[in-house]
Amino acid sequence: MWPLFALVLGLLVGSFLNVVVHRLPKGESIVFPPSRCPRCGHRLGPMDLVPVLSYLALGGRCRYCGKPISPRYPLVEALTGGLFLLASLHYPPSLEALLVFAFLSLLVALAFIDLDTFELPDGLTYGLLLLGLLAAALLAFPLPFGEALDGALLAAGALALIAGYGGLFLRRFQEGKAEVPVGPHQVHMAALFGALLGPGVGMALAFLAWGLSGRTGKAVVLPDRVTLPLLPLVLLLAPALGLDFPEALRGALLAAGGLALAGGLYWALRPAPPEEEGEEEPVALGYGDVKLMGALGAWLGLYAFLGLFLAVFAGALLGLLLRQRKIPFGPYLALGGVAAFFFGEALWRAYLSWLGL
Ligand SMILES: [Zn+2]
Repeated sequence: MWPLFALVLGLLVGSFLNVVVHRLPKGESIVFPPSRCPRCGHRLGPMDLVPVLSYLALGGRCRYCGKPISPRYPLVEALTGGLFLLASLHYPPSLEALLVFAFLSLLVALAFIDLDTFELPDGLTYGLLLLGLLAAALLAFPLPFGEALDGALLAAGALALIAGYGGLFLRRFQEGKAEVPVGPHQVHMAALFGALLGPGVGMALAFLAWGLSGRTGKAVVLPDRVTLPLLPLVLLLAPALGLDFPEALRGALLAAGGLALAGGLYWALRPAPPEEEGEEEPVALGYGDVKLMGALGAWLGLYAFLGLFLAVFAGALLGLLLRQRKIPFGPYLALGGVAAFFFGEALWRAYLSWLGL
């Protein structure tokens, strides 16, 4: 009975996620007004809203205007139903299972919103992060709190640095404009000092730069052309500097992750976003992906890195196949995250035995 219940619940939640994906990016209410046909605007009745089945029964067309309905709607419903079913096979009926349902629902919504808009709404990424940390703190599920927090910071820090180096290459090593009061510059600075002096000091110095930037209205930070090239140098020379390499790397990632997630939260909570001015700098990876990666770290711990690996692999493969120039990375991260959540340990063990370990 439990898997069947999970499947039906997933289909219904999937139907709701269609509304979220459609309306949330436009800032529309998710509860009101009731669903309408996007073509003719006719209000949909209960018989039109049965997940998957209505679509099949109506032959993929609107009952009122006869125009085709996007197959995306039944697809999202079937996908969510399938994911809930998968979760029900791993978790018995429990609060934990409900948390996993929420984890999966948020990832489905994020993936499809990113596909549509190339954006990952802060409410959903930080919601996923917060829910993961809260579940860890209250239930030690899916991880003990320490591991969840470390996972979030390490994962966000790693992707923030990848984005930093990607951006530097795209700008051909030209210095980017530093944001006031906080932006990627502080993240890179935190990483450098985190590697040298430990994550606490790294974060403290970067927060100090953030505070000074806010106070003076000017960017008070070290340039990326200093911090980004110095970081790998420090890590390479760790033994010569009297540092332990794994500790230095950990310090860099933790500090960078702390700044990336705190800075992202600052920009998310700022009441009025400023007008975009001037040309946008080329970015390799958006900070939306960094926040999503941090959220995955809270749920998966170090297995988030396996998820990232799977995401890059799937993204590269599909990018080559579809020959798209601009591809959103969020759907791949979500996919990799789900795969690593359910099969991470099994995949890791298979990989080790393949290596002969
Ligand atoms: Zn219609």
